[in-house]
Amino acid sequence: MFREGEAVRRIQSGLLLLGFVMASALLGRAGDTTPGRDPKQPINEEYTKKINEYTTQPNFTSPLVNYLPASKTVPAPDSVLGDVAGAPNILPYSHQVYQYMRMLEKASPRVKVFSIGHTEEGREMIAVAVSSEANLAKLEENRARLAKLADPRTIKLDDAEADRLVQASVPVYYITGTIHSPETGAPTALMELAYRLAVDESAYIREIRNGMVTLITPIVEVDGRDRMVDIYRWHLAHPKQNYPPLIYWGKYVAHDNNRDAMGMTLKLTENVLNTFTGWKAQVLHDLHESVPYLYDNTAGDGPFNAWVDPILTNEWEMLGWRNVADMTEMGMPGVFTHGEFDTWSPGYLMFIAAMHNGISRLYETFGNGGADTVERTLPPDEYQRTWWRQNPPQPKTLWSQRDNNNYEETGLLTSLHYFSENSRLFLKNFYLKAKRSVSKPGNEGPAAYVFPGDEARPGAQAELLRVLQKQGCEISRATAAFSVTIPAKKQPRRPAAGQPQGGATSGAPSADKTAAPGPTTLQFPAGSYVIRMDQPYSRIADALLDYQYWSPEDPQKTPYDDTGWTFGELFHVRVVRVTDLKVLDAPMEKVTKIAPSSGVSGSGTIYAFNHNGDTALATLRYRMKNASIEAAEEPFEAAGRKFNRGSFLVKDASDAELERAASELGLQAYAVSAAPTVKTHPVRAARVALLHTWLSTQTEGWWRQALDSMQIPFDYISTQTVGKTEDLRAKYDVILFPPVGRGDPSQIVNGLPTAWGNPLPWKTTAETPNIGKEDSTDDMRPGLGWAGAARLKEFVQKGGVLLTVMDTANFVATLGMTPGVSLGRPQKMKIVGAVLRAKLLDDGSPIAYGFSEDLPVYCANGPIFNLSNLSGGGGFRRLGPDQTMRATGRGAADDPDFVPGRAATETPEEPHAEPWEALPLTGEQLRNPITVIPPADRPRVIFRYADAKDLAISGLVDGGSEIAQHAAVVDVPSGAGHIVLFSNNPIYRGETLGSYFLVLNAILNFDNLNAGRKLAEK
Ligand SMILES: [Zn+2]
Repeated sequence: MFREGEAVRRIQSGLLLLGFVMASALLGRAGDTTPGRDPKQPINEEYTKKINEYTTQPNFTSPLVNYLPASKTVPAPDSVLGDVAGAPNILPYSHQVYQYMRMLEKASPRVKVFSIGHTEEGREMIAVAVSSEANLAKLEENRARLAKLADPRTIKLDDAEADRLVQASVPVYYITGTIHSPETGAPTALMELAYRLAVDESAYIREIRNGMVTLITPIVEVDGRDRMVDIYRWHLAHPKQNYPPLIYWGKYVAHDNNRDAMGMTLKLTENVLNTFTGWKAQVLHDLHESVPYLYDNTAGDGPFNAWVDPILTNEWEMLGWRNVADMTEMGMPGVFTHGEFDTWSPGYLMFIAAMHNGISRLYETFGNGGADTVERTLPPDEYQRTWWRQNPPQPKTLWSQRDNNNYEETGLLTSLHYFSENSRLFLKNFYLKAKRSVSKPGNEGPAAYVFPGDEARPGAQAELLRVLQKQGCEISRATAAFSVTIPAKKQPRRPAAGQPQGGATSGAPSADKTAAPGPTTLQFPAGSYVIRMDQPYSRIADALLDYQYWSPEDPQKTPYDDTGWTFGELFHVRVVRVTDLKVLDAPMEKVTKIAPSSGVSGSGTIYAFNHNGDTALATLRYRMKNASIEAAEEPFEAAGRKFNRGSFLVKDASDAELERAASELGLQAYAVSAAPTVKTHPVRAARVALLHTWLSTQTEGWWRQALDSMQIPFDYISTQTVGKTEDLRAKYDVILFPPVGRGDPSQIVNGLPTAWGNPLPWKTTAETPNIGKEDSTDDMRPGLGWAGAARLKEFVQKGGVLLTVMDTANFVATLGMTPGVSLGRPQKMKIVGAVLRAKLLDDGSPIAYGFSEDLPVYCANGPIFNLSNLSGGGGFRRLGPDQTMRATGRGAADDPDFVPGRAATETPEEPHAEPWEALPLTGEQLRNPITVIPPADRPRVIFRYADAKDLAISGLVDGGSEIAQHAAVVDVPSGAGHIVLFSNNPIYRGETLGSYFLVLNAILNFDNLNAGRKLAEK
């Protein structure tokens, strides 16, 4: 158990051993206050007894949480829970957690509850502030001081004034719980933490209370929490049965809710960011539960995010190792930091702080996915000792939700205390990080990012600017034309690792491909948008808009998440990184509303809309239900302008309705009196179904989010529904089948084993009122089944379009539904969530409408499509040139061999095809062409991946030559319909707006996908 007297000495030597001499000398011992209760304050005997009863091992607790102080006026958590926090079998719903927090607010002047917004399903999110009465009474004055530190321009970057503000202020430490719904412990831990902070009179807690404001959002994913509690209640009511997995968390996505801090697509991200920046908080500390017993991944593994301030990375180390030291001192096993989590991607919720001059922190504690007390057995890699885990968890232990709560609360309390004791240092750092963000143009640069005023896709440009606005970035607009100098691009002395000689293109914007020998001048028209880097939140703009290079030789071999994300590329808009400081003197004004020019110009009854890939065009089609809309199959000129192939010609529309729609959707219409003479076909508001499995809904959720945001209606159907639907074609024109996230296609057919166990219902009942809303089933286990697969095929035969992506493309190809397309087996290829360049091959295809030569796409390891003109053919195509080398023989490599004693014979020309093509048919194959696919049924390649040297735009691309030049988007005619296959994921995390229209084109032109097709002769 805990030996209090030894704490100080051992922590000091621990720090020295770890080599953090500097931190130790700078900060000294984190105070002389001993953690533990004040003997003068009575304890809540009954509650304390339960705490210790539910703790499964004496060293799974600490002097900070092994008792509960008593209060005559403030209710303890058992007043709502019916038992102590972390008690077995108890998981409170969000409304119970909120009820308790509001009871605290009512009973204690040290607690205030704030509503911070709502979820997609309308549930409230809250933030609970706990601090001394004095601090809470002066919250606004404190916030005003913090606001000045947060924006040093307000004090003219005056360090002396900053010091004065630091002296007068208390910091805000923001804790967020339960973003991941099956990680269930945080709400009760945070209820009890709030109680302790409000009530406990021990010196240790008083120092926290007086020294800072603790801000708590007990539940981030509120929709998912309530569903998780439903499932847990079902489990308690059916103790002998298997229970349904939590297939839906939030309305749209599951664990990816913690990857949204870049795209800011979900309400929970926006609400937490607004709270963090609104409170001018210094820390965002997010609670998770997947690693034994407490993994503080604050000080993670490399590579670190390239855009964070080194001041922050030092803070990570200080806080992380301090935390380990304190809890190790208390005798708690299994507390460690560093670990294997790399700190590269800024997509995690906690990274909101890292990108906004605060401190990001994250705990993984050990959760049981509910409140059962169970024996847990660890795999060796979780209990073995490593240099960063000197006191590892036990291989086997009985573990309870109370144990988890003990670890969460102890970790947080020691962190809060350390932070409060060093609040001057951390507040000063907060100021310094903001100051260095403002000083960015003159330091590391760049000076600004410019979004040119003559952008071809103003809608996508506006969407990207809106993301930056949500991130808190200030946006300016040039009131006159201006020019900047772009420095010459230096030729790299050595190629980037993994890149062919002379072809180091990673990190090179497509616009820079023609690298000039000397500096060049770049002109920008009036109306260009400028993201100035002399603003406090310049860091997030830089991180989103810059390029990412991850060396294939990086020692980190298991990147934790995506390695590339360059937003300008993925939104497919031009963004210019400008280092020339002169850009800051360009005449410009701040803008709050981003509104591309829109409306109707000219006069006439036919309206032409240029197809530029702006997603609002698809919204327009669904909104103008009664208008007749045609797509031009060739480029044309009208109203004195050039229109791209695929442009819309709208007839029979109410003028007023069209004008209103155009201006609300940010679209420009050109009215003409006569239709241009160009071949057209109808653009229809296709009836869309989005198909999901009962295996996982994580990745398809981003597709639902995108369709909803574009106001494109769809039916949401499961693989089980497909199997039961008599005539899919009678109901739908297009079925979208986004990635499932399961590698094995047979699982889509088979589902989960049904030969044993019990049905797993997903439906609304009195017991489970929060589930079964998106879709429902009596049993989640059955998959598509063979009958379902046949129905999908029949749907296509009858003229439907089935759109498949990554693993679902693998599924249709493996089932033989796409003759002529097979999948190559990757050898060494490693493309970890990266931005790749795709090339347009068939600009006549309606799928390509609105696109031109190059398109940046999001890719995560393929698949690699191979094409063949033979049914069942293809298989493994030849890879690379070495396999076509000549055999050993006479002469040089290029020479023909000979046969001694025989006259030379002419060798026939070998069939040749590019990697994206099928090999031409040979005379041998055509002699009796029973396996040859008829020309009209052969796969049509719309986009292919770029050549190896041009492939990588951002992120880790290792062994890219295996997928380079291979088909990326393929249209396979089948009966009267089509199957479309994607190797990239065109709709992903709200980050890939530039490729959304590949999907929208397939929808809007579903009955004319053969337009512009040139068939082979044979
Ligand atoms: Zn988690």
